[in-house]
Amino acid sequence: MKFADVILPLSVKDRYTYSIPEKLRGKVIAGTFVRVQFGKRNTYMGVVASVHNIAPESGNVRDIKEISEELGFVNAIQLRLWNWISDYYMCNEGDVMKAALPSENAISNYKPKTEIYLKLTETLSEKRLNEILDSLKKAPRQYDLLSELIRLSGYEDGSEVTPVKKSLLMSGTHATQSAINALEKKGVIGHVDMTVLRTGEEKIASIPVNELSVPQQNSFNAIKKVFETKDIVLLHGVTSSGKTEIYFHLIAEQLKLGKQVLYMLPEIALTAQMISRLNKHFGSVTCVYHSRLNDSEKVEIWKMVSGHEPGGNCSLVLGVRSSVFLPFYNLGLVIVDEEHDPSYKQQDPAPRYNGRDSAIMLSHLHGARTILGSASPSIESYNNAITGKYGLVELTERYGFIKLPEIIISNTREAYRKKLMVSHFTPELLYAIDDALGRGEQIILFQNRRGFAPYIECSECGWIPTCVQCAVNLTYHKALNKLVCHYCGYTTSLPHSCGNCNSSGLVTKGFGTEKIEDEIKIVFPSARVARMDQDTTRTKNSFDRIIKSFEDRRVDILIGTQMISKGLDFENLTIVGILNADNMLNFPDFRAHERGFQLMEQVSGRAGRRQKQGKVIIQTADSSHRIIRNVIRHDYMSMFKNQLEERKTFNYPPFCRMIKFSIKHKDRSHLNHFSDMLGSELRKIFGSRILGPEAPVINRIQFWYIKTIILKIEREKPQSKAKQLIIDVLSRIENEKGSSGLRISIDVDPY
Ligand code: ADP
Ligand code: ZN
Ligand code: ZN
Repeated sequence: MKFADVILPLSVKDRYTYSIPEKLRGKVIAGTFVRVQFGKRNTYMGVVASVHNIAPESGNVRDIKEISEELGFVNAIQLRLWNWISDYYMCNEGDVMKAALPSENAISNYKPKTEIYLKLTETLSEKRLNEILDSLKKAPRQYDLLSELIRLSGYEDGSEVTPVKKSLLMSGTHATQSAINALEKKGVIGHVDMTVLRTGEEKIASIPVNELSVPQQNSFNAIKKVFETKDIVLLHGVTSSGKTEIYFHLIAEQLKLGKQVLYMLPEIALTAQMISRLNKHFGSVTCVYHSRLNDSEKVEIWKMVSGHEPGGNCSLVLGVRSSVFLPFYNLGLVIVDEEHDPSYKQQDPAPRYNGRDSAIMLSHLHGARTILGSASPSIESYNNAITGKYGLVELTERYGFIKLPEIIISNTREAYRKKLMVSHFTPELLYAIDDALGRGEQIILFQNRRGFAPYIECSECGWIPTCVQCAVNLTYHKALNKLVCHYCGYTTSLPHSCGNCNSSGLVTKGFGTEKIEDEIKIVFPSARVARMDQDTTRTKNSFDRIIKSFEDRRVDILIGTQMISKGLDFENLTIVGILNADNMLNFPDFRAHERGFQLMEQVSGRAGRRQKQGKVIIQTADSSHRIIRNVIRHDYMSMFKNQLEERKTFNYPPFCRMIKFSIKHKDRSHLNHFSDMLGSELRKIFGSRILGPEAPVINRIQFWYIKTIILKIEREKPQSKAKQLIIDVLSRIENEKGSSGLRISIDVDPY
């Protein structure tokens, strides 16, 4: 083959053809990493998508410069997944490639990590060694070091003598570098550089997986039964029913067969607790993959998953959505836990893919099985289950037959009227907290807003400071004493007076986690309080630290955003407070009610997971809201039926497929012009399936004005034709005069 079509890590529509120089013929195949020149000066690492003998029409074709071997290769299944994602989500393969690989810099810098090990000189007899030890009595540091090395290296018990990590030796003795040098000089010890894993701290499988209870065993059997005829199972099990323990059994089975397993969670915050549970059962074959790893760690995991890392092989990956891109070669099972979670969807930049749906495709390409797990499945997945596309297995009891938490509704409107509120807390919530503290139990308080106050306002004229770049109110952060935009990060100091009437009567409005922390400390001065949200978890190990301190009962009350709402398992947690249910239910999105239910059910599910029933206090001004009524009875089915009915009436997914176009321009009138044009062009093709253009609730972000257009197409219809028509329209518009400042992004299955 003389030519190769290469995917470049760029936002370009096409693959580019390069010629394969004589010396590389036969070595360059689909999936090979190659270095190529693109444009005048730049060279990139690309991936060969295919090889062929068809010379491109434009005569001058560049040679591939070289093969780049650092990462091995991209396997055929990965290439098909990239292709599927770019097709389905209507984005460039280059964008998928960028999301899939560690950065190019990391790859070509990447060096295996080595550490210095010390070892005994092999030719020393025991007699000689004892003489040396005797002679060292006056050099205690050398004596210490040598005796410790003799002990740790296995010399003493006659087993094979192994090198010992220098740092380990030094931390266990009073040895200094000069003591080491002296012993080396005497020819007693030597040192070697050995390769170690960056991500491989000691992981030894120490306990077998728990035996399943009868209901768990029944579900396990049911799952296996479904897998005889179907590839996908939805495991709908109430919170703390022991879904995770069922996964462990399925994992153990796969590992025994020599297969790989991908276990996905929606958020990094959840991986800390889970990885330690997994390490205990499965030891050194586990690894965790997420965006907080540094580039070298990512490269190392990539190699371990591909089976090309001499230091270790990884058969069980715990990861967030991006882990679908790892080079699995022998995948047997994919677990997508909390499958309903919106965090599985990537918003920006492209590829705007759903990690759950991509994982289903990955699993399919491997001929593997998929299990989707949730206590409150997405409407789409549950619908797929009851219509027979997926198998359905349900677990309706908590492990140990502990009751689901009691839900207490606390009406804030009434409490305000009767002047019973203490800052933002109702008497019911305060009583429950006080009671739990008295018994030494723990509490979680959930508020889905970070910062101190969502906005500040002039009490004279109603002026509200907004972001200079976005159509958004600025959030007050007390610790910083600054106003911050949560959309673009713009920060400004707190004004002393109103920007409109100059009055000094600026007041904070509403409340976020930071304010709740402040106030709870005032109401319960002796309680130990911690907060977990984006602001307190910026450093690498902050999640682990906060979760650990709560696990170890060094914290009584943990306040947090959705980060603390899902998946976590705490032994001594009995009370959950939801501070404002209303802001979860009242936002303009067809999924608002589904989301509200899921969030409340999830966060409630943290309470009372051992021994005794937990209690959840939900503060709301609208206690008769249908979703609140569903949550009180943990009634997923009613919620599902109502939502499905509404989706049908108003034609929303799963009854149609949605594609959302976001049109952006820094000039408002240009934006209007082009979005109208796009709207009418699309309408010519799709007629009444097109809605908009409309200004979204937040219609300007970082100086870009925004409009959106929604396309709803029938599920049954093949989509490739529709997508081609869309692509044609977009390229026509991009060729219009004055469209250079225009940006159009496409979001398939927006979430
Ligand atoms: P879920 O994933 O459904 O929320 P988990 O699997 O985390 O539930 O189980 C809830 C709690 O019960 C965990 O602490 C777990 O260790 C414990 N548990 C569940 N099943 C078993 C079992 N078979 N043996 C011992 N402990 C179990
Ligand atoms: Zn004012
Ligand atoms: Zn902003």
